[in-house]
Formats: sequence, structure tokens, C-alpha cells
Amino acid sequence: MDHVTMPDPWAGAVQDIIAAGRRMDRFGWVPATAGNISRRLPDGRIAITRSGGHKGHLAEDGVIAVTLDGQAVRAGDRPSAETLLHCQLYAHSDAYSPEGRAEEIGAVLHGHSVAATVLSMLPGEAILLTGYEVLKVFAGQDTHDTTVRVPVFDNDQDIARLSRVVAPHLGAMPAGYVIRGHGVYVWGRTMDVALARLEGLEFLLACELERRKLAP
Ligand SMILES: [Zn+2]
Repeated sequence: MDHVTMPDPWAGAVQDIIAAGRRMDRFGWVPATAGNISRRLPDGRIAITRSGGHKGHLAEDGVIAVTLDGQAVRAGDRPSAETLLHCQLYAHSDAYSPEGRAEEIGAVLHGHSVAATVLSMLPGEAILLTGYEVLKVFAGQDTHDTTVRVPVFDNDQDIARLSRVVAPHLGAMPAGYVIRGHGVYVWGRTMDVALARLEGLEFLLACELERRKLAP
């Protein structure tokens, strides 16, 4: 095949990230400069949104390359502090599977929705989602008749310390996790899978918030 017709993995990852940012913005999940979005490339680099900037209005230069340990590939690029939480998921992707089989993580999404922010400010170490049809969007769930536990970790501006709190749970979070008063982390094998899970989780968190308003 002529090399000119070969798909460019970097350009594809950047377009996926720009499209994901627009989609998250449509739902109001990335207010101001909130959130970050990444995709892993076949060569091991991670394409991730740079620090700052609105994720609903990303341009190609809003995405930078980092290594698995979160270092910018190009001198002068400034990754967001939370890049480490993305890298942690990619690094542990082999451990993420109920059967011990590797589920590849190819994309990670982080947003700051109203529902995730408000629900996670309530006391407790997890948000329990029970009885909802949409629970089937998460890996390993084939019925509504179940409870999915979404861990809530206390917010911490020291991201390395926060990642050490998250680490023991990495194999057992089918719906992702929430940082208290802050937002969600969701991932998937592809960007489409990650977006579907994010949409499912945010729908369920919004349902929980409405339910609690009706019956506090
Ligand atoms: Zn954040």
C-alpha cells in the first residue's frame, strides 16, 4: 500500500479527542476549562488534551503526546496534572478484568458534571446504582437486576497521592470512578466504548440525583 494512503494514528487520535470534547460539551460535562480526554496510540504514546482550554472547542494543537509515565514527548508541552490518572489506567489495563483477562484500555474520559459533583459531596465511599436498565452498558453487566458500585475518592490536588488511593480498586470499577466534588473518570477499549460508558454513567448519576430530590 502506498504510504500516503496509510491512516495516520496520531491524526485519528486527535480527531477522536476533538469529537469527544464536543460531545461532552453538548451535555455540559466540561464547563470552563474542566475535564480531559486521552487516547492511546499503537506505538504506546498517549494523545491527551493539554492543560487549560475549553474541551468543547479543541483545535489540533490542543492535544499533546505524553509517555506512559506522563512526561510530554515534545519539550515545552505542558500536560495537565491529571494526566497521571490517565496514564495509571493505561498502565494497569492488563489488570482490569473480572476474569483476569486483559481488557485493553484505549481511551480515557474525565468530565465535571453537575450530577457527579453534587452526588459525590454526600457522605460515603461509593455511589450505588441499583435496578437501572442502563447498567447493562458497563462491562460484565447483563441485567438491570444488579447493583453497580461507583467508588468515590476524596479530591486531592496532589495527583500522585490520589493515584495511590485509586490503585487498589483498578480491577473492579466497571462504571469508572468519581472524585469527590470534582468529576468522573471513565474508560474503554475504544473512544466509542468510553463515550458510551460515560454517557451511561452520567445518565444514571442524573437519575440518582432526581430520585433523591423526590425522596431525600
Ligand atoms: Zn478534573
